[in-house]
Amino acid sequence: MKQNPFSKICNRVVAALTSLWQGGQPVSAEGGLREKFWERHRLGELTADEWEALCDGCGLCCLLKYETEGDTKVTYTNVACKLFDCSSCRCRNYEFRKEIVPDCVRLTPENIDEVIDWMPSSCAYRLMHEGKPLFDWHHLISGSSESVHAAGISVQDRCIPEFEINTDDLEKYAVDWR
Ligand code: SF4
Ligand code: SF4
Repeated sequence: MKQNPFSKICNRVVAALTSLWQGGQPVSAEGGLREKFWERHRLGELTADEWEALCDGCGLCCLLKYETEGDTKVTYTNVACKLFDCSSCRCRNYEFRKEIVPDCVRLTPENIDEVIDWMPSSCAYRLMHEGKPLFDWHHLISGSSESVHAAGISVQDRCIPEFEINTDDLEKYAVDWR
């Protein structure tokens, strides 16, 4: 396995998994979101609230992934970061995650070009970056935070924490999530 630029064994990129939701509801228009901002503006033009709201909560970015030597293809596994709660599909300690998982990389407009290849093809940031529309199951379209799970996109209840495996055997846990 080839090391990626962000950590020894995996890339962990996330964009506000926990700050997206307020009381179980998506951040609302009152929270400062412009109408259909994901269609009308580019990533670099989004407000902080819009940037956060764009995350679909799939959890795919919190899975361990690797690149094989001589192959630029990023392989996903079903092994999640030690702070990820596979049941709720959220980070257990988002506020202090960097203290606990120093290689957790926060996705920003500044680093997106560098990390985009490590993001899943369904990721809303990747879709916008590539000029593609969001999927119908995205909460900004469906209006429900549950639709990403109902559509079978998220990793909810389908991953195992990294402390339950020997990460030297990571390749045994490779999964094609598409
Ligand atoms: S892959 Fe993208 S949309 Fe899904 S949780 Fe991560 S940042 Fe959010
Ligand atoms: S520290 Fe939290 S946000 Fe970062 S990769 Fe792990 S579970 Fe995801």
